[in-house]
Amino acid sequence: MTRLLTIIGARPQFIKASVVSKAIQEMEGIEEILLHTGQHFDANMSKVFFEQLGIPKPNVQLDIHGGPHGVMTGRMLAEIEEVIQAEKPDRVMVYGDTNSTLAGALAAAKLHVPVAHVEAGLRSFNMRMPEEINRILTDQISDLLFCPTETAISNLQREGFTHKPMRILQVGDVMQDAALFFAERTATPVGLDFSENFILTTLHRAENTDDLQRLTSIVNALNHVHQHVAPIVLPLHPRTRGAIEKAGLSLDVTVIDPVGYFEMIWLLNHCGLVLTDSGGVQKEAFFFGKACVTLRDQTEWVELINVGANELVGAEQERIVQAAERHFGRDVKDSHQLYGGGKAAERIVQTLVDA
Ligand code: UDP
Repeated sequence: MTRLLTIIGARPQFIKASVVSKAIQEMEGIEEILLHTGQHFDANMSKVFFEQLGIPKPNVQLDIHGGPHGVMTGRMLAEIEEVIQAEKPDRVMVYGDTNSTLAGALAAAKLHVPVAHVEAGLRSFNMRMPEEINRILTDQISDLLFCPTETAISNLQREGFTHKPMRILQVGDVMQDAALFFAERTATPVGLDFSENFILTTLHRAENTDDLQRLTSIVNALNHVHQHVAPIVLPLHPRTRGAIEKAGLSLDVTVIDPVGYFEMIWLLNHCGLVLTDSGGVQKEAFFFGKACVTLRDQTEWVELINVGANELVGAEQERIVQAAERHFGRDVKDSHQLYGGGKAAERIVQTLVDA
C-alpha cells in the first residue's frame, strides 16, 4: 500500500487535488493523507471547495498564511517537516506553483521522501513571478514530473532534464478533468441576476496587484470596458480588494465576493468573454468555449495563443479595451486535444501505484 502525503493550500490546488483524490479513492493499493497548509483560509477561498468538490477533510490542518514569502514558506517548511516525520509517507505530492508547493517539496526532498509534482514543466520565463521561482525549484527536487502539456515537456527538455534521473510524463491537465467532471454542476452566484451578456473577469497576480501603475491602468480599462463594451462581473480576490483599497482606486464594475467552483462554471457558461490574469481561468475559458483576453505579458499556456483562443494584452489600458471589443462574443472551439481529454488524474494515480 503506497502512503501518499498530498500537500495543498491554495484555491487552484483544491480544484486540482479534488479529481486526483477521487481517482485515488477508486484505485487499489494507494491511500492518501491530506495536508492543508492554510495558505488560503477564507471560507470562500477554501471551505467552499471542500464542500462542493467532495474533497476529504484534511488529516492535517496547518494555519500558515500571510506575511512575506520567506516567513510563510519557512514556517511551512518547518511544520511540514514534522508532519512527514510523524506520518512517514512513501511519497509526497505537490501541485502547481505556490509557496505550499515549494515548502512541501523541499521538506520532503531533504528527508529523502520522493516528490511528485503535478503541473511540472510550466514556465513563464518571468523570474519576477514568485510562481516561476516556486515551479522551477520544485521541478528540480521532484522525481516524478507530471506535465500537463507538450510545451511543459519541451521546457524540461530544454533545461536538460532528459539527462537527469527524474521521470517526466505527459499526463494531461487535471483542471480539464475537473472542468469535465463537474461541468453539469452549475450554480447561479447568489444575488447575480444578469439577463445581459457579460464579461467574466478575475484579477489577482502579484505582478498586477503589487504594481501601482499596472493596477491603475487595468482598473481604468475595466471601468471603460464595463461602460462601453459589456458589463463586467468580477469575483474579487481578497489580495486585489486590499490593493485597490490601499491605492484609493475606484472600480466601477459588478464586483462580487470570490465564488465557489460551481458558480464559476455558471459564470463561464454564461459569459461572452473572459478577461483574466489567472492561469487556471485561461484554460477554463477554452474548456467552456469562450475567448480569453489575458492581462499578462507572458503565459505558461502558450498553446492557447497558438490556436487563437487567447490573446495576451498586458496591463495597457488601450490594448485591453481594444482586445475586449474584438473578442467579446467570439466562440472558441475546443476541438484540439491539448490537455489530455480528462484522463490526467487516472494517469497520475496509476503511475503512483506502479512506481
Ligand atoms: N475560481 C473560483 N472562484 C473564483 C475565482 C476563481 O472557483 O472566484 C477558480 C477558477 O475557476 C479556477 C481556479 O479558481 O479553477 C483558478 O485559481 P486562481 O485564479 O486563484 O489561480 P491560478 O490558476 O492563477 O493559479
